[in-house]
Amino acid sequence: MKAIVIEEFQKPLALRDLPAPHLRTPFDVIVRIEASGVCHTDLHAASGDWSSKPALPLIPGHEGVGRVVEAGEMAVLSVGDRVGIPFLHSSCGACEYCLGGNENLCPAQQMTGFTVPGCHAEFVAADSRFTVKIPDALDSNEIAPHFCAGVTTYRAVKISGAAPDKTVLISGFGGLGHFALQYARLTGARTIVVDVSEEKLEAARRLGADATINASETDVPRAVRKLGGADIVIGAAASSKALRGAFDALKRGGRLVVVGLPPDDLAVPVFNLVVKGVGITGSYLGTRKDLREVIDLAARGRIKCEYTTAKLEDINDVFDEMKAGRIQGRVVLKI
Ligand code: NAD
Ligand code: ZN
Ligand code: ZN
Repeated sequence: MKAIVIEEFQKPLALRDLPAPHLRTPFDVIVRIEASGVCHTDLHAASGDWSSKPALPLIPGHEGVGRVVEAGEMAVLSVGDRVGIPFLHSSCGACEYCLGGNENLCPAQQMTGFTVPGCHAEFVAADSRFTVKIPDALDSNEIAPHFCAGVTTYRAVKISGAAPDKTVLISGFGGLGHFALQYARLTGARTIVVDVSEEKLEAARRLGADATINASETDVPRAVRKLGGADIVIGAAASSKALRGAFDALKRGGRLVVVGLPPDDLAVPVFNLVVKGVGITGSYLGTRKDLREVIDLAARGRIKCEYTTAKLEDINDVFDEMKAGRIQGRVVLKI
């Protein structure tokens, strides 16, 4: 099968011909991939950005959609089902987090396209208990990014306390940010979008943002204060500078929910943190229940991914566009 492979950190990815995967457990399915969203996490993985680095060689990709072509004896899906595959490949099922319904925090989790081979390939092996069947009316390319960018920001907004009397600031209007705006709007909150690209801010206004701020030419905390301040920030840029600006823009009692994963640390002044009574929370992926809710919202036409398509062999160009911050919404690889 054709697959994209990270062979060395910081080097261009390679298109290789590899043996197709096989069933590893009775719960597994083999999926023939049709569409695979490119997440900034793929770029972090290929750059070796984080202290936690994947073992190489690795097939990245964790927003995959395709049809089941083979199913293990105990799989909860059947051959022919169209399914989506998230980053959370599997969890242990027995730890305190799994038992508490927070399997996204399981320390023994496996991660699609990070600890196990991912979806930027013609076939992938997935654990059927962690994949979701897709309603027929939904387009494979459009629904793929809901499996990471969608579910991650859905959960972040859900835990943020967003409500009609709150102002939610979305920092970073990339793949994740454009979903975060839509989920925040569903809660009835007022929304402010911050990015460094005028085209992105235009798209944010088109998607209903109440206000937009260009961080490359404006002092973000001051501009936000003029707009009445932010109760909640969803930090969706891979930039610690953006997170710091958003922290400074928070009102007293406000909450910063961090989803972006810049390689460096976030330094905030402890004095302001304490005196303003601000909360900082990390939010990681979503649970299987969150994912079902995300697909249901998409099926009801409430949330849509804006995307363009590319081919497997275009991956290095897609990464260049992503580094330059030029991708509007998501790029989905058509396979
Ligand atoms: P993306 O490249 O599509 O979007 C990033 C956006 O941030 C771009 O629009 C860019 O213009 C903007 N940006 C850059 N600098 C900025 C600044 N100073 N101020 C405001 N905006 C700025 O990336 P993505 O796929 O949306 O992913 C974003 C981050 O989220 C990545 O670090 C990724 O690894 C992380 N992520 C986290 C989780 C999680 O579970 N927490 C899941 C998926 C992705
Ligand atoms: Zn992702
Ligand atoms: Zn567990």
